[in-house]
Amino acid sequence: MQLYDGFISQINGLIGRRPAITVDYFPSRLKNAGKNNVLFLNETAFELGGSGEKCVSTLAVTSSFKYSNRTYILGNDIKNIKADCPFAKVVLLEIEDIDEENAFDRIKQLEQIRYSFCPEGFMSRASAISMREQIRVGKRAVKDKISLADYANCIMGEYLRNPIVKSAEIILVTDRDFDYDGLISVAEKIKDTTSALSHILDNVLFDCKNCNLKEICDEVEGMKELHIKTANK
Ligand code: SF4
Repeated sequence: MQLYDGFISQINGLIGRRPAITVDYFPSRLKNAGKNNVLFLNETAFELGGSGEKCVSTLAVTSSFKYSNRTYILGNDIKNIKADCPFAKVVLLEIEDIDEENAFDRIKQLEQIRYSFCPEGFMSRASAISMREQIRVGKRAVKDKISLADYANCIMGEYLRNPIVKSAEIILVTDRDFDYDGLISVAEKIKDTTSALSHILDNVLFDCKNCNLKEICDEVEGMKELHIKTANK
């Protein structure tokens, strides 16, 4: 699976320009609070990506790059955040080299973790359409000195439990000077690539001139070849 490799390189270009704290994976002390976990406002210290602040969340898979099961934190950690702030969350996963025909379902399964899994002390409000994922941080989590690394490791453990995931990297950003718009643009293209993959696997007519996915297929290496291969079956 190499369809997202170009976008992963673009993300690395955005992240690599900023100072970051690096944390190696350790089993998190947090449990999964489940998808129906609710934190009311009076229980919330602040919301990452709340109050209309910039916010973006994306996930990309690859079979080309290996990761060190590491989290990168750009900007303030929980103990230094006092109010709603911008937020970006990037999950990069090295997966087995799966057959492209299974790829859409497998990617969707991995994306579902965002909606079904939430570390205790937090509440996630995610939208696949807007690519936002706002995270409410509970007053209790602040009092218990929970860090962004605790949060990231809890999620990373869940991804690593998936049999097709070989290694992972999570990037969390709260830095006000980060290029959120640049990341939103890459996240948009990742979303479009997954839509194009679904479109191709639905066996639609191979007609690039009249296809509204032409722009993304022109940019993503291997997309047209995949459609030709699928169309010829
Ligand atoms: S390869 Fe052509 S027809 Fe197929 S999805 Fe891409 S642009 Fe559309």
